[in-house]
Amino acid sequence: MKRLLLNCFALVAGALLVLPTLSFAQDYIPVPTPRPTATEQLGDLLKAKPLSVLPQKERACRSRLRKMGVRFKAVERIHGKGKCGIKYPLEIAGLPGGVKLSGRTVLNCRAGEALAEWTVKTAAPAAQKRFKSKLIRIDQYASYDCRTRNSQPGAKISQHSLGNAIDLGRFHMANGTIVDVASRPLPGMPKRRFMKTLRDAACTYFTTVLGPGSDVHHKDHFHFDIASRRNGYRYCK
Ligand SMILES: [Zn+2]
Repeated sequence: MKRLLLNCFALVAGALLVLPTLSFAQDYIPVPTPRPTATEQLGDLLKAKPLSVLPQKERACRSRLRKMGVRFKAVERIHGKGKCGIKYPLEIAGLPGGVKLSGRTVLNCRAGEALAEWTVKTAAPAAQKRFKSKLIRIDQYASYDCRTRNSQPGAKISQHSLGNAIDLGRFHMANGTIVDVASRPLPGMPKRRFMKTLRDAACTYFTTVLGPGSDVHHKDHFHFDIASRRNGYRYCK
């Protein structure tokens, strides 16, 4: 009897842990491309730091996100292997203007802010301009992920390991237009111009911008990160 009771308790506790993430996950549409490999690396929604213990800088950043209309939740601090991890991670469920992000997107606040600003000021207006339609969804291929650069053994730590980076692969418009970063539209075509605008402008909000043509690892997505370098140097290739 005691054992039965214990089992019931475990079931109820398990359901309570899973439930809050289910409703959140319903918005997500699966992406058939590489995703962060270890979901268990991502923080636990239930144990996020209360607002009162956050540094002022972090609170200010979150309040800017809210003002911009970003949908996000704080998750538990991520302690990864070695230098991997995020002190105050956020799970970003939606970008300003109702733009959805596919997949589970975990970033630090500053990276989330850069992404939100780029969406509002560049990606959404570019969709209107090129396709006379609303940008409704972006497929992200990786956010937090504890690994080396380009997953190469012995390479430096990737900015993905710090929650500083995001990989974006496809853009969906309300009229059904899909722009896939892996595609190669002809020069002058709206899709080509759209991709160029997105990539060029990203260098204003992020400090690293890579994509098709940068190297073999970025042929199907844009990589944006906010790595800080000496003298504010930016690497946009
Ligand atoms: Zn990347």
